[in-house]
Amino acid sequence: MKPLVVITGASSGFGMELAKLFAKDGYPLLLLARRVENMEKLNLPNTLCRKVDVTDKTAFEEAVREAEALYGKTDLLVNNAGVMQLGSIETQDPNEWKTMLDVNVMGVLNGMQIVATDMKKRRSGTIINVSSIAGRKPFANHAAYCASKYGVTGLTEVLRGELSAYNVRVLSICPGAVDTELLSHTTDPAIIDGYNAWKESVGATNITAADVSKTIKFSYELPQAVSLREIIITDTMQDA
Ligand code: NDP
Repeated sequence: MKPLVVITGASSGFGMELAKLFAKDGYPLLLLARRVENMEKLNLPNTLCRKVDVTDKTAFEEAVREAEALYGKTDLLVNNAGVMQLGSIETQDPNEWKTMLDVNVMGVLNGMQIVATDMKKRRSGTIINVSSIAGRKPFANHAAYCASKYGVTGLTEVLRGELSAYNVRVLSICPGAVDTELLSHTTDPAIIDGYNAWKESVGATNITAADVSKTIKFSYELPQAVSLREIIITDTMQDA
């Protein structure tokens, strides 16, 4: 059997597409998110679905150990779970900042700690963190989201350096705007409208979650000796 792939945030968007792609190729999977029913509905073979909030490190780790007992050690962790709540610095509820920093940064750190020691020992394994183009450049109304994704970019680079001597790959992928449920968590309707109007006006509406997921899978399936360290992937017509 192929090695275990763990995907966080597999109940929609990129994570769900990734789960389908990996399952099609015979990988055993651990899928994590809060809406466990969305993952169970996929009915994928050799797949464990667990209702886990990635900010709960104990629950996250228990699920990983449970899957490893069934399918062997984690060979790939995709830290994909994330939230984007855009807002003006003057008016946004600080609870939204906290949610983004907790899920987007702490959730990724949790995942890395859960698998890193073992990967180091085995001198093999891959961690792919889903950052964002907003982890590389600023966008209006993205202050806390950019802070969280610049955080992901930074911590990925640190861990890449620390784990390279052990033959463990640590990669980041920075997608541009792609249609998923992500924008629906923004609570300011004017910001949602503005975001959609921008995408429509430049024509950046054709890239799909499947395109991003295929790219993540491609980077993993390169030989262990090849590290596609950072990927920035956007719709060709995205202008920012
Ligand atoms: P979706 O909203 O469709 O998916 C987000 C996933 O994260 C869901 O499965 C959700 O599951 C999960 N999630 C959110 N909070 C938690 C939590 N606390 N614990 C566990 N799972 C959680 O969006 P995308 O697929 O677009 O987003 C995936 C990643 O890609 C995110 O990190 C996002 O920031 C990043 N990204 C997306 C871009 C885009 O334009 N779509 C661009 C750049 C980056 P549930 O709610 O069931 O827990």
